[in-house]
Amino acid sequence: MTSQNRRIPGAARVVLTASASALLAACATSAPMDKPAAPEQVKPAPAAPPAAAQAPSAKPTYGTFGVDTAGMSPAVAPGDSFYRYVNGTWLEKTEIPADRSSYGMFTRLAEEASRRTRSLIEEATGANAPEGSEVRKLGDLFASYMDEAGIEAKGLAPLKPELDRIAAINTRKELAAALGETLRADVDALNTGDVTSDRLFGLWVTEDLNEPSRYAAYLLQGGLGLPDRDYYLVDNARFNEVRQKYQQHIAAMLGLAGIPDAEAKARRIFELERNIARVHWTQVDTQDVAKVNNPWPRSELSNRAPGLDWEAYLGAAGLGQQREFIIWQPSALTGIAKLVGSEPVQTWKDYLAFHAIARGAPFLPKAFVDESFAFNGRVLSGAQQLRERWKRGVDVTGEAMGEAIGKLYVEKYFPPEAKAEADKMVRNIVTALGQRIDALAWMSPETKARAKEKLGTLQVGIGHPEKWRDYSGLEIVRGDAYGNAQRASRFEYQRNLAKLGKPVDRSEWFMPPQLVNALNSPQQNSIIFPAAILQPPFFDASADPAVNYGGIGSVIGHEIVHSFDDVGAQFDARGKLANWWTKEDAEKFKAAGQALVAQYNAYRPLPDLAINGELTLGENIADIAGVAIALDGYRLSLGGKPAPVLEGFSGKQRFFLGFGQIWRNKYREPTLRRILLTDGHSPGEFRASTVRNIDAWYQAFEAKPGQTLYLTPEQRVRIW
Ligand SMILES: [Zn+2]
Repeated sequence: MTSQNRRIPGAARVVLTASASALLAACATSAPMDKPAAPEQVKPAPAAPPAAAQAPSAKPTYGTFGVDTAGMSPAVAPGDSFYRYVNGTWLEKTEIPADRSSYGMFTRLAEEASRRTRSLIEEATGANAPEGSEVRKLGDLFASYMDEAGIEAKGLAPLKPELDRIAAINTRKELAAALGETLRADVDALNTGDVTSDRLFGLWVTEDLNEPSRYAAYLLQGGLGLPDRDYYLVDNARFNEVRQKYQQHIAAMLGLAGIPDAEAKARRIFELERNIARVHWTQVDTQDVAKVNNPWPRSELSNRAPGLDWEAYLGAAGLGQQREFIIWQPSALTGIAKLVGSEPVQTWKDYLAFHAIARGAPFLPKAFVDESFAFNGRVLSGAQQLRERWKRGVDVTGEAMGEAIGKLYVEKYFPPEAKAEADKMVRNIVTALGQRIDALAWMSPETKARAKEKLGTLQVGIGHPEKWRDYSGLEIVRGDAYGNAQRASRFEYQRNLAKLGKPVDRSEWFMPPQLVNALNSPQQNSIIFPAAILQPPFFDASADPAVNYGGIGSVIGHEIVHSFDDVGAQFDARGKLANWWTKEDAEKFKAAGQALVAQYNAYRPLPDLAINGELTLGENIADIAGVAIALDGYRLSLGGKPAPVLEGFSGKQRFFLGFGQIWRNKYREPTLRRILLTDGHSPGEFRASTVRNIDAWYQAFEAKPGQTLYLTPEQRVRIW
């Protein structure tokens, strides 16, 4: 039961963090086997599939060839700001909707997916589906959440049993068990990049870094109600204000639940969280896979991390039998366990009560919903208005049963032609990367051979997973919004626990089809493209191919390159954390990365805050090389024929316009701040600006020395 706006994903192999791309179904769950689809091995086909060297016939969604030329600012020199040249008029004319913390192409599509999902759910509700069927569950889940009068009438009653259990804690052993009961599989450090848990720790069950043929149980640092340690520790006016408001929010929530002495308790809860924040790892360290691979035998937990009664904690978490854990951030785990032993039991009880209320708030009466929005929405994201209830209902339903919605979604909204076309593009772009690897002057033949081996075994999923998750074990009770959320959260946890000891399922998806995003899984050596991103402006069957290659092609390139970014390059073809680089090649790769770190460190989106070049390195590598190989893929698609000129734009120009257009985005200040501090992705403007590293862009737009984006050929970062 994670309320969406509290989940702050860090860096990930995704094209956009889930929180920003869509307040849609974030982490999915399942449904019975249906028609097979996606994952297949990509064979870098040397052939160039048929070109579309003629103008498209039907009218595209944007402009006449797929680009919203009316949103451009032709007066801006592309060499000064390519982002404004492509998007200037759109930026001037667009206002962020009051219920949004940012707005751009991803959010626009997410809103559309939300509307579609609502109608799919409502059809399910109206269909008189049999008791226990998946569509019946979807309908009941949504209807229960929408029943505001019913929720209001129940008042605090749904929350009461949980608060009573917390109030009955007397000993540290009971405290440990209560903390263990809250553990959930709410983090995913490498696929979706969710590294934040408001529970003591986050559990992640996925392939073992050291042996990808088996699952491992990973424990990540958790325990904070604010997005990151910096929110507790950095001393400046902005953060002081957030901290003050957070304490007021804690007190308000306790007060609403009828807990006495709320203000003093809020102070102590905040201090406890601040102590947790002090032992937390930074985002940069959390992403360093060389530091996080720490297998600990279960028998060592009590010795190495005393303070927490591990026996009681793991027993209550259903992990009593687990023999080994991989500890992502050892000193944080040790520090947090120590606090469980040293801080007063009463403070921990208050902390547990506050977080139970905060997590339950979306399913409780209006006063809780409003207070939750006042802080998590208004203060932390900058949104001015609570999103309409049905939109939140779609999110809640998607979070519980994402793939059940996905199954309905792809039946109705995912044409087979989109998959066929995307398949073709993937083949061309993979081929392009293969050719680039062959041509790299700085890389030795040994490393090249290993890179090609890895590229050759890359698994590609387009549209939807091959088999759907099974929700038959999930109990949904009509009229019990709070209970449904709790059961769904436990169901997802059990689904993850059940993986332990079983053979690895290499076809699992980590995103539902209706999410506007894309993902690379380094441990599966796979990339996935949900159905919902295969739409304009990313992909439009009626658009000029150059624009599609600049849009979805760059996203495809981006995800492929994640297999070879600073993190991905540390995994081999099997998905094992293993070095396959010669020492010299690794050094050269690292040096190119450092140049990119410096380039991004120089961008300053807020007066007091620059981009963190190290935190965003993997994404920035994926952006640069992704555009480069997508452009090569476009050339391959032309099959030797010249690209036509449309409305005065060459094929190359249209490719870059298609790329620049997908990154148009406006942010509210608190959200931009949070992205800069916690997100592996650079803000849209700077993602679009990566064209300054591509020689072909200089030819296409005649960027000159003296212009803002101009880099000499030696300064341009070339990685793949
Ligand atoms: Zn990415």
